[in-house]
Amino acid sequence: MKIITDPTELQRQCLDWRKQGHTIGLVPTMGYLHHGHTSLIDRARTECDKLVISVFVNPAQFGENEDLDSYPRDFESDRAKAEAHGVDLIFAPEPGSMYADNHATWVEAPRLGEHLCGTTRPIHFRGVCTVVTKLFMLTQAEVAVFGEKDWQQFAILRRMVRDLNMPIRLIGHPIVREEDGLALSSRNAYLTEEERAVAPNIRKGLLKLVDKAKGGERDCAALKQFLADEYAAALPMGEVDYIEIVDPDEISPLRTIARSALAAVAVRMGKARLIDNILIEV
Ligand code: AMP
Repeated sequence: MKIITDPTELQRQCLDWRKQGHTIGLVPTMGYLHHGHTSLIDRARTECDKLVISVFVNPAQFGENEDLDSYPRDFESDRAKAEAHGVDLIFAPEPGSMYADNHATWVEAPRLGEHLCGTTRPIHFRGVCTVVTKLFMLTQAEVAVFGEKDWQQFAILRRMVRDLNMPIRLIGHPIVREEDGLALSSRNAYLTEEERAVAPNIRKGLLKLVDKAKGGERDCAALKQFLADEYAAALPMGEVDYIEIVDPDEISPLRTIARSALAAVAVRMGKARLIDNILIEV
């Protein structure tokens, strides 16, 4: 397994692979790999000859008061996991080599980033779209795998690829969870024992909301209030960032559920901000 830190060297290696007729697959990550990431890697492994993952805590997608500096990092562990899952190349650049001091070009799909995480993280998706575009250009990948845990991110990237005719196929992978239902996240490392014990109630509330919708409640305001009440009781130390029901493709809030809808939440617990979502099909 190769480890490359220099973007130009990555591009040269990947262009060589393409010339030799290999297909390249990509899984972008911020490292501190867990079973969610390795599931994406396993999926990508079946889709390409040469599998590249990136391990890069991308400064452009963090706001000023966010956890860029404290984001968990453990490159040795990431290296071992990547190797065990058949990765051919880890790209682990320094921020300075990805963004020149006078970097001036951004990629964004503002309308899809207005709600959910975009409300409290206004520059987040611009940073994501830009770094993912750079990774696509550097790797020349034909396929890339993303997690549905970050549903809004995946919806935005799908739109970006379609709108800009990027020659790449995107695959979405279902959310990987702990046995008690908590969605795996590198940020779960921030949770205290007490917070970790109640965190699965984020998912439990979403499941109850789906039951309620399937039972006939189609009014989104009522459904959101129901979930807010659930969380107030079951997540006493949680502070709700948002509870929203949106169109799954447009990420725009719905008043009533007609066919499919996405319920998405973000909850702050101590140092962690946890997100989760569920598709409602009625
Ligand atoms: P991150 O390192 O958090 O930026 O995540 C890298 C990729 O892994 C993204 O496409 C995420 O959506 C995906 N991912 C992270 N956690 C999970 C999970 N629990 N289940 C599925 N995909 C995940």
